Amino acid sequence: MKLLSTFAASAHDIASLQLFRDADTASAAALLAGCPVMLAAAGEVVSDPACPRLVIVLRGALADATGEGATTKILPGESAGEQSVLDGEADLSGLTALEESELLLVDADLAWRLIEESNGVARNLLRLLSFRIRAANMQLRRRQKLGEFYRQLSLNDGLTGLYNRAWLNDVLPRLVSTAQVTRAPLSLIMLDIDHFKQFNDSHGHLQGDGALRVAAGILAGALRPTDFAVRYGGEELMVILPDTTGAVAAGVAERLCERMREAVVFEDMRLPLPHITASFGVASLAGGQDDHALIANADAALYEAKAAGRDRVAVAVPLLTD
Ligand code: GH3
Ligand code: MG
Ligand code: MG
Repeated sequence: MKLLSTFAASAHDIASLQLFRDADTASAAALLAGCPVMLAAAGEVVSDPACPRLVIVLRGALADATGEGATTKILPGESAGEQSVLDGEADLSGLTALEESELLLVDADLAWRLIEESNGVARNLLRLLSFRIRAANMQLRRRQKLGEFYRQLSLNDGLTGLYNRAWLNDVLPRLVSTAQVTRAPLSLIMLDIDHFKQFNDSHGHLQGDGALRVAAGILAGALRPTDFAVRYGGEELMVILPDTTGAVAAGVAERLCERMREAVVFEDMRLPLPHITASFGVASLAGGQDDHALIANADAALYEAKAAGRDRVAVAVPLLTD
């Protein structure tokens, strides 16, 4: 930057500067007299981490690239660097001139005198900081929401809305170890839609997707808030029932099996009504078992239900003593 002139109230309109709006401009003008007015070329870096100071744009425009990714434009009449003046910390703002700009530089000591001698300047500064805090908070909230959105997206299955495999891999081991420590029962129901390949072949893949959604809806609608429904993969779904014995879980599976059989898959009454059925395998956590063993037991029971003719529930042995 190169020195252009020193500040002179006669040559510059103080009242148009945000910090001096409605303030005692005459006394501000007297204090500012002699401050350097610098000329910054386009692209030139303006901030100086070693030197806390106010930078007031008289002409041109600055870019402040402090917020990761987000750049704020500072236009004539606006200022930057207030925070570093107030707290004496290094000015970390990445100020760059967007075009050739005329800048009034006010060092920290003088900025404090302006604040001490003019209520108007102090009020403008408070308003400005309050505005910036609000904007920063809003950005933070937006990011948090976005983060939550993506987190949800990565833990839920897109087709059915049920929890997905990533969620299961994260949560089931923890549920299992809690149950082992507290010696509380934990049951798992694994289910697989019967002859689903044939369903797809007869009605098309889209109707197949619809049927999967219906099946997921039956699970979601029939469970307690403490139970979890998961899409294990393809047309295999799973229900996790904490604090539930094998006998109770078998009853839940029977109920789900019945609802599945009775479900209306097509809302369109002109179409023939195909039904879906599913086979269910129920297992309960035994002492010393881990999540893999629990799933393997439920899977083995499911295989039995298939082999025994489908559309039914099979319970793995051994069960926890109920
Ligand atoms: P079984 O009674 O022995 O389970 O027979 P099945 O036909 O259901 O079993 P198989 O494993 O042979 O076929 C599973 C079918 O599920 C094949 C696959 O196309 C279908 N499927 C898996 N995921 C989806 C999906 O997201 N949408 C649709 N429409 N079909 C799916
Ligand atoms: Mg199947
Ligand atoms: Mg299958």
